[in-house]
Parts: sequence; C-alpha cells; structure tokens
Amino acid sequence: MAPIREGLFVIPEGPDALPQLLGSECPACRTRFAGKRAICLECAHRGVDECRLSPYGTIHTFTIIHQTPKGSVMEAPYSIAQVQLEDGPIVQTALLGIPLETVRVGLPVEMALHNVKRDDAGNRVVAYVFQPRRDAR
Ligand SMILES: [Zn+2]
Repeated sequence: MAPIREGLFVIPEGPDALPQLLGSECPACRTRFAGKRAICLECAHRGVDECRLSPYGTIHTFTIIHQTPKGSVMEAPYSIAQVQLEDGPIVQTALLGIPLETVRVGLPVEMALHNVKRDDAGNRVVAYVFQPRRDAR
C-alpha cells in the first residue's frame, strides 16, 4: 500500500490503528498545525516539530459536490468537509460512508483510507477520507 502523496499521512501498521495526517507542533506553546510549518503561527517560535495529528475530529463545515472534474478519484455526489481534529487543526477532506442527507456540523468522524488506483507494480494507492466515527453512538 502506498500513499497518494508522500509526507501527507501515515498508513497504520495494524488493522485496529487509524491512519494519521502529518502535521506540526510548536515545541514552545504546543499548538498544532495541519501540514508543515517553519514558524509557529500562535507564538512566532522558529522551528516547529513534525507530529502525527489525531485521527478523530468533528465536522466544522461542509458542502455537497454534485459534479466532479474530469480525472477526479471521487464519484459525485459526495461531500467535502472541513474537519476540526481533536488536537486543534482544521483539515479539508472528502467524506465517505455518510449518507449525504445525514451530514451535519458537529458529526464525529475519523480518518480512513480510500483506494484510488494501483501503481505500475500493482500496489494499492490510497488517499485519505473521513468517515463516521465507528465508536460514536
Ligand atoms: Zn508556538
């Protein structure tokens, strides 16, 4: 299995572990950010460490996509959301496994992997999505 882009997320080693996005954590104030940063946006500290972000969050806002551009790996209609992770950062993601009429702000979600294609060697290439949190009631 291979990520669609190196350095974006970590593929879990066991069947019970969830994938995690890679982010940054400020060693001074412990604020976390999505993606890589050189300077902390909270306290302006220079030098921010790489970290694994929480795979859990809630839907912060969302929209429904009715038409997909040519070459898209998603099939319309589907939902795109901004998810607020439990450790703070907000990330943009496609949602899967949620009937569109039930998507709502505040819905608990978790990160998952989605097969998008096979590479030349036959390996599964995966992207990340978020789906309803399995342990939520
Ligand atoms: Zn900081």
